[in-house]
Amino acid sequence: MSTLRGIGASPGVATGPVARFGCRPVLPPVAPPPGPDEPGRARAALDHVAAELDRRAAATGSDILTAIAMIAGDPVLATRAADLAAEEPAAWAVDRAIGEYRAALAGGHLVDRITDLDDIRDRAVAWLLDLPMPGPPNPGHPYVLVAADLAPADAAVLDPDQVLAIVTERGGPTSHTAIVAKAIGIPAVVGCPSSFVDGQVVQVDGAAGVVRTHPAAAPVRRGLLDVGPGRTADGHGVELLATIGGPDPLHGVEGVGLFRTEFLFLGRSRPPTVEEQRLAYREVLAPLVGRKVVVRTLDAGSDKPIPYAATGSALGIRGIRIARARPDLLRDQLEAIARAAADTGAAPWVMAPMIATPAEAAAFAATAREHGLTTAGAMVELPAAALRAGDIASEVDFLSIGTNDLAQYAFAADRHLADLADLVDPWQPALLDLIAHVAKVPTHIGICGEAASDPLLALVFTGLGIDSLSMTPQSLPIVRTTLAAHTLAQCRELAAAVRRAKTPAEARGTARRLAVG
Ligand code: PEP
Ligand code: MG
Repeated sequence: MSTLRGIGASPGVATGPVARFGCRPVLPPVAPPPGPDEPGRARAALDHVAAELDRRAAATGSDILTAIAMIAGDPVLATRAADLAAEEPAAWAVDRAIGEYRAALAGGHLVDRITDLDDIRDRAVAWLLDLPMPGPPNPGHPYVLVAADLAPADAAVLDPDQVLAIVTERGGPTSHTAIVAKAIGIPAVVGCPSSFVDGQVVQVDGAAGVVRTHPAAAPVRRGLLDVGPGRTADGHGVELLATIGGPDPLHGVEGVGLFRTEFLFLGRSRPPTVEEQRLAYREVLAPLVGRKVVVRTLDAGSDKPIPYAATGSALGIRGIRIARARPDLLRDQLEAIARAAADTGAAPWVMAPMIATPAEAAAFAATAREHGLTTAGAMVELPAAALRAGDIASEVDFLSIGTNDLAQYAFAADRHLADLADLVDPWQPALLDLIAHVAKVPTHIGICGEAASDPLLALVFTGLGIDSLSMTPQSLPIVRTTLAAHTLAQCRELAAAVRRAKTPAEARGTARRLAVG
């Protein structure tokens, strides 16, 4: 975590994605030739700014804004600007006139008015150059406002529901920013130069006067990046879970979305006993009691040959098909999981790999329940299962999409062949279509393939309505941070745009373009 120090201007702690204040308009280096009525335009610009500030003052009841509107409407300033505009374009003339006013104030007791003057200058110049009016950003979700300095005209109209905190580069503890932040009850740190970019998640501690930044550690709401639930910027929950292959020293995870159990079965000549398995599962479950743990039953076969269980190819006996030849192996495993659950007080979910039909799903759920395991699910890894996900979901409590195998079977491309990697690319439109089809099923749906580790795909999946994402623990912070920087509406828009793409490259490029930051 890195910490930037400034001056605490309004107490409280808040965390969220940065949105920077609209930039000040910059005059082009070479002024164009003056137009026919530059003096009139200079006056009109200042009139416009004064009227706009008056309007905002009336809307907010702000005395500060009324005072600034009076400066903008000061006839002495207008006359000076108009005089200068006889020689140069109005934008340059207004800039110069206000610059003179500014120089007169610097060092005097009215030095605090300088920000007001700069604000008037920026608005008038933007109006004259036909540029967007500088002002608060509007990213569409709550944000931490970062600005060089906040003019009272803008500070006064901030929406406390949208602005989580304020960080300014300049300003003192009695600046307008501080006054306004305190008045609307949001934390603020002033005098804190930074190079934050939009979408970057920061934590503002207004009492300590510090801003903390580190994608891996900065919680979006207190604790979110540690153990709290994953969520979008507007609070839509998406469980962010770890994928593990054995006992793992997991810290601060919300739970486990895929526990691959093959490690217990590989490299031996006979299956582990119920007791051996019970001890192993206990070791995994004990530190995670109270959190979700999804245990996947043995996925022998294909790339995980286990001679006494299944040696089948990718299209042969693998995954749940083991129950055809060796139902005892499945029963023993479920029994061991149930005993480990009873030992620890954990309530693991169980799921079966390679489910092809609703009948297979129903048989698995029935067997799990016979062993007292009440939450049973099916992995969706075959196109047949994806197409009939609704029927499968009627037989089980949840679905979990295994994108690694779903890609392999949809494209008839061995997932381990580097030469075919382009086909099993998770951004393939056909794969995304299958996932989108499954996502419409009204049940709890997770994604547990490698695709869930890609922060941009995580946004797409969230937009499609996926409830949980399971990934290598190392990927959790970046996925969590990325998710926290986007609203659900943004994820939906992004998913819709990505789904219109015709190639993986186009899909990826679209997501990159639309993602914040
Ligand atoms: C998958 O296929 O996406 C999956 C999670 O299972 P595995 O990688 O273990 O086959
Ligand atoms: Mg799989």
